[in-house]
Amino acid sequence: MTRPPMVGAEVWQDVMTLAGDRCQCQGACGKKHAGPDRKPGRCEREQEEYVKGRGRIRLLAIPRDPSLPFHEAARLPARRLIAFCPECSDGVRRAIGRAAKAQAPQVDGLFAAEDYLVNPADAKQPDVGAA
Ligand SMILES: [Zn+2]
Ligand SMILES: [Zn+2]
Repeated sequence: MTRPPMVGAEVWQDVMTLAGDRCQCQGACGKKHAGPDRKPGRCEREQEEYVKGRGRIRLLAIPRDPSLPFHEAARLPARRLIAFCPECSDGVRRAIGRAAKAQAPQVDGLFAAEDYLVNPADAKQPDVGAA
């Protein structure tokens, strides 16, 4: 069974054509996809390729911007999408989930509380209504 594309068929086809019907992951999923030369490369998975345990795979069109949730893909144009195989897209989801968890406790610390405390001496009130 293959998952249906999350985007419209036309947009999906454009994304696949741009990708050459091959997964465009270059390590975003957490794998290095190293080639024979051991340099980080690009995922080898291709559209309709048979993958053990998954059957014939269907590449997914996912947002190029990893901060966008996957469901946002449905309203993005082809140039803002990227072709990923199911394995890599699962890897990206996991990586995003980990990043979100890692960042969560820091959110409160991003802004120092003192910045919000107004020193009354600094507060210049405009003379509203003054003639
Ligand atoms: Zn891949
Ligand atoms: Zn990958």
